[in-house]
Amino acid sequence: MAEPTRAAALARIAAFAPAMGELYADRRNHDHGPAAGDALARPNVSGLSPWLRHRLVHEREVIAAATADHGGAAEKFVQEVLWRGYFRGWLEQRPSVWRAYVEGRDAALDRLNANAGLRRAYDAAVAGRTGIDCFDAWIAELTTHNWLHNHARMWLASIWIFTLRLPWELGADLFMRHLLDGDAASNTLSWRWVAGLHTRGKAYAARAENIRRYTGGRFDPRGLVEDVEPLDEAAEHPLVALPAPGGAVMPGHALVVHDGEGLALPPALAHPPAIVIGLCAPDRRSPAGVAPAVAGFARGAVADMLARAEGLWGCPTAIAATPDELHAAAAGRPLAAFRLPTGPEGDVWAAALAGALSVDDPYDRALWPLATAGFFKVKQKAPRALAPLGLALG
Ligand SMILES: Cc1cc2nc3c(=O)[nH]c(=O)nc-3n(C[C@H](O)[C@H](O)[C@H](O)COP(=O)(O)OP(=O)(O)OC[C@H]3O[C@@H](n4cnc5c(N)ncnc54)[C@H](O)[C@@H]3O)c2cc1C
Repeated sequence: MAEPTRAAALARIAAFAPAMGELYADRRNHDHGPAAGDALARPNVSGLSPWLRHRLVHEREVIAAATADHGGAAEKFVQEVLWRGYFRGWLEQRPSVWRAYVEGRDAALDRLNANAGLRRAYDAAVAGRTGIDCFDAWIAELTTHNWLHNHARMWLASIWIFTLRLPWELGADLFMRHLLDGDAASNTLSWRWVAGLHTRGKAYAARAENIRRYTGGRFDPRGLVEDVEPLDEAAEHPLVALPAPGGAVMPGHALVVHDGEGLALPPALAHPPAIVIGLCAPDRRSPAGVAPAVAGFARGAVADMLARAEGLWGCPTAIAATPDELHAAAAGRPLAAFRLPTGPEGDVWAAALAGALSVDDPYDRALWPLATAGFFKVKQKAPRALAPLGLALG
């Protein structure tokens, strides 16, 4: 079981580092199914996503480990890590996509109550009773282990949308409820990508032959719709400017950290905080709340991060699950907050932190401005943008 600690994340990096080069590039698309004992400990993919999602370990550390061990042979692995930053930067600059997802999800949840046929199809899908062998197995894996291989996510999403003809937003919501790494940007934009809404007009088809080959013959799916028609939407999502960097923190401030910023690489602050407050409201990732394992991982991650904050600054710490608890813990001190990403975190906390000084992550600040269109620009320009942070991407 994945432990929500930085120590566990570092151990996973150390264990997987030898595979971050050619092995990963050659074998990453194969889904061998959950590993015995620890479902995430796969030989061919890192299983690092829950820790990266909560930033118990930073992308910079993972990229540095990969390039140190493998140099240019780590290119494929590094690119995948960059996808996370690409999606985060992209959503930050098109926040209306998140709003549209929330509205679409809530409308689809309402339709479930009004449409018995849709309700039956949805209930069968989320219970893993569709009769499509791989789909039903992945639903069981998702709800048991709270994690899926990337290829299984793509296939599942494609079958959900194009074979079962269910609203993509309900599938994305199911993932947010059950994934340990459930992340507004990677999840929403990946579902949109499969549907044909991210790269407009280009959808992802789950093909039976491809599934058979990359799952080692574990499945023989029947009846898949392979000739897929991309979804479309009327809404345009304008690009908005990224916020300007925050200034220096004030003496006696309360430092506000959230469950996506685990202090893996602590910021250099002009003044130490008087208190560190960890925001944690994982149940807000979905209207139905999240699975106990998901909530437990998020809470554990924040507790681990606060223990580190105590060691760093020797100040008291507190966990806040609501804006009222945040205000009570801050007790009128000036607030300095790690930037809240667009998504459930922003929805819950943005108003309470409206006057707070923003603390920025240098990696995000370097990468996000590149994420205005397709991934290619990030791939091309990341080496130069990240070089000042000591990352040698070739
Ligand atoms: C429909 C769908 C939903 C997804 N939802 C999420 C989500 O909620 N949270 C999430 O972190 N990832 C999501 N992904 C992306 C990807 O599937 C996971 O990040 C990856 O499977 C995690 O496994 P790993 O740690 O072994 O990755 P590795 O292959 O070992 O890659 C290393 C790290 O790079 C990042 N990464 C790798 N591939 C991607 C990718 N395609 N997009 C973004 N980041 C990537 C992850 O942080 C990952 O831990 C989704 C993909 C799809 C198709």
